[in-house]
Amino acid sequence: MGRADLHIHSFYSLDGTDTAAEILEHAAYHANLDVIAITDHDELRGALEARDLGGKYGIEVVPAMELTTLAGHVLALFIERPIPSHRPLVEAILRIGEAGGLAVIPHPNSRLAHSLTHEDIRQIAAHPDASRVLVGIEVFTGCLLINSQTAPLRGLAHQLHLCEVAGSDAHVRELIGSGVIRFSGLSAADLRKALVNRQVTPIVRFSPTGAQVALTWTKKTLARRRDLLKYARQVGIYRAGQKRRRGI
Ligand SMILES: [Zn+2]
Ligand SMILES: [Zn+2]
Repeated sequence: MGRADLHIHSFYSLDGTDTAAEILEHAAYHANLDVIAITDHDELRGALEARDLGGKYGIEVVPAMELTTLAGHVLALFIERPIPSHRPLVEAILRIGEAGGLAVIPHPNSRLAHSLTHEDIRQIAAHPDASRVLVGIEVFTGCLLINSQTAPLRGLAHQLHLCEVAGSDAHVRELIGSGVIRFSGLSAADLRKALVNRQVTPIVRFSPTGAQVALTWTKKTLARRRDLLKYARQVGIYRAGQKRRRGI
């Protein structure tokens, strides 16, 4: 059985702290994963960088991004090109499908992030084409201190015949693997097949404690702020982030 964490941020997200190499090292040697998805906010480059490096660590990387739609965040998995952000929800899901991708809904109903509601998810499931792109709901999010939604979300996933997915939403590498799914096989292609066939199993448990991780994230972000901003300017994502924040 393979192990995958499909919700990891690199510093291309600007609120993440780790490079592709640091993420891969942790995923391989500490979290014991076979497949990961790097899901930066409206950015694909971190995932593509990690995919090029993955072989060195024995990890397959699913090219992905956490897409901001007008309704909330959506994980776009298995995409080879960026999907435009800030579009209406169903249109965004259809675009993921056109790019050959699959969609998973992260942290539904969370007040800590821009999140879809049950009604939003039902709207996708009721659409004849969008429903073919949506494969799962993140019922457990490792970085959240409280996962009070897990039980109702599992019920919704069951009702809509969607995979129950666990992901870390790691913004620091120590959290990678705190939300994991298991699937038959070891490769990204096996994982894709398992998601389409609704044959993944979420591992729902906390580790390490949220307070420890929050402290680590704050310390690391403050310590690396200058380096991160310098790199962001170099690769041209700083200005894009500013524009996004201003809604341009
Ligand atoms: Zn999110
Ligand atoms: Zn996220």
